Amino acid sequence: MAEKEIIIDAIINGEKYKAEKQEPRENPTHPNEIVGYAPVNTVEDTIKAIDVAHETFITWRESSIDDRVERMRRAIQKIKDNTPEIAKLLSREHGKALYDSEGEIGVSLMWMEYACDNVKEVLKNEVQEHDNGKTIIAKDAIGVVSAITPWNYPISLSTIKIAPALLAGNTMVLKPSPLAPLAVSRVVEIIADEFPPGVLNMVHGEADVGVELTSNPKIAKIAFTGGTETAKHIMKAAADTIKHMTLELGGNDAAIVLSDFDINDARAMRRLVISNFLTAGQICMIAKRVYVDQSIYDQFVEKYIEAANKWIRVGDPFDNNVTVGPVNNQKQAEYVQSLVDDAESKGAKIVKLGTILDQELFEEGYFMQPTVVLGADQNDPIVVEEQFGPTVPILPFENDQHAIELANDSIFGLTSSVWGKEEHAIDVAKHIQAGTTMINTAAVQGLDVRFPFGGVKQSGIGREYGKEGILAYTDTHVINVPKNRDLPYIPE
Ligand code: NAD
Repeated sequence: MAEKEIIIDAIINGEKYKAEKQEPRENPTHPNEIVGYAPVNTVEDTIKAIDVAHETFITWRESSIDDRVERMRRAIQKIKDNTPEIAKLLSREHGKALYDSEGEIGVSLMWMEYACDNVKEVLKNEVQEHDNGKTIIAKDAIGVVSAITPWNYPISLSTIKIAPALLAGNTMVLKPSPLAPLAVSRVVEIIADEFPPGVLNMVHGEADVGVELTSNPKIAKIAFTGGTETAKHIMKAAADTIKHMTLELGGNDAAIVLSDFDINDARAMRRLVISNFLTAGQICMIAKRVYVDQSIYDQFVEKYIEAANKWIRVGDPFDNNVTVGPVNNQKQAEYVQSLVDDAESKGAKIVKLGTILDQELFEEGYFMQPTVVLGADQNDPIVVEEQFGPTVPILPFENDQHAIELANDSIFGLTSSVWGKEEHAIDVAKHIQAGTTMINTAAVQGLDVRFPFGGVKQSGIGREYGKEGILAYTDTHVINVPKNRDLPYIPE
């Protein structure tokens, strides 16, 4: 039986807001099937949402933290109760395997709970009695936050912003990506329902909506996750009104495999494969370049291909046996293929990985057979660019210093990983320019919502998760009561 088409609306001032235009979202597994429709909001709609959020901020900022936490916990429970339905919708519109969608919602809930558990402590006023009186250091809400999110992890990358922003007393207008707008909208509806009208608003649409959300003078902070090129436009759009910003951008994460990595450790090898191919490689923090000590390179490649062939089973996201679904959209699939073709044309060897479970379906959807690229050069686009898809180059290095140079030879610096004996790996990790470096694991497998996450260099500004991820939605407000109020050097 055909699934019901989902219709999503914008949310402005606690009400569903009908847009004049709706855009269909196709199912990447069966591109002829429409999963649902999301609105294409206009700049005028966006201004309405911003105005409401701006107005609501005046009262919301005065609400008690206990009240905010109670509301968020109710939303968490409702998301939990609805996880099976939301996960299914996410897999249909996104293409990621069902276990992956459930995992994304699980991480989102974990973070929302962490934010609820910790917000009071993080926002607590610091009061100092000192030799010159008393000083209160308060953490104030910033104002209206515009949250703009990408398609690859639409729910976790939205809740990562919504939870701390609202708990800290801000209001928000959120814009999901048109490439996966449906499941996240269900989550936003649930949260918005638990809060007073106008606290959490949502609009949908394209770059024009994004431009309004990043240039409107009533927006105080931008929380953006997406591509580095888009972030450059955002910084320019925001410049005229000097906004706070958290930018979580692209990555080209290196995995360094040291000479003492045990290539016979099947679990570690599988972990590395997963860190390259989970969500069909469409994760900011996936390992996108693998560098292997030349002394073990040949044996490593052989074992890696063996492990990849075992773990990668490409097919229908709803088949329990499937580990890798289709790519989210045709443009992305074509881009990834162009990088692979370019490497092959320059003499690299392309090795196909894994099993295609259903050839007919494979040809119908935006599927790609995962590949490993051998013999590419450090300067080839497959190594330099963020491929964001199911292919990974493996390159040899001469010694640890060389590996560090190769890893740092990038405009990006999101995460990275080092694989080998623990002490040795930590020694190498210390020299890598990245927001996070994981030892003997990588990508979401090593993610911990209790610790700050974000990039260096052109991978971003600021941090999400951890206490820093809550503080990012506050501004420091010092209330100073000095005993000596007059400066002695200013003449009477
Ligand atoms: P994207 O930059 O194309 O789009 C992200 C969002 O920005 C979308 O909602 C889009 O509609 C909006 N947008 C587009 N133009 C805009 C403009 N001019 N002003 C304001 N908003 C605009 O990114 P994408 O293709 O959706 O996502 C993939 C990228 O996101 C990759 O580079 C990936 O590495 C990155 N990403 C980073 C993280 C992280 O935490 N660092 C996490 C996930 C994805």
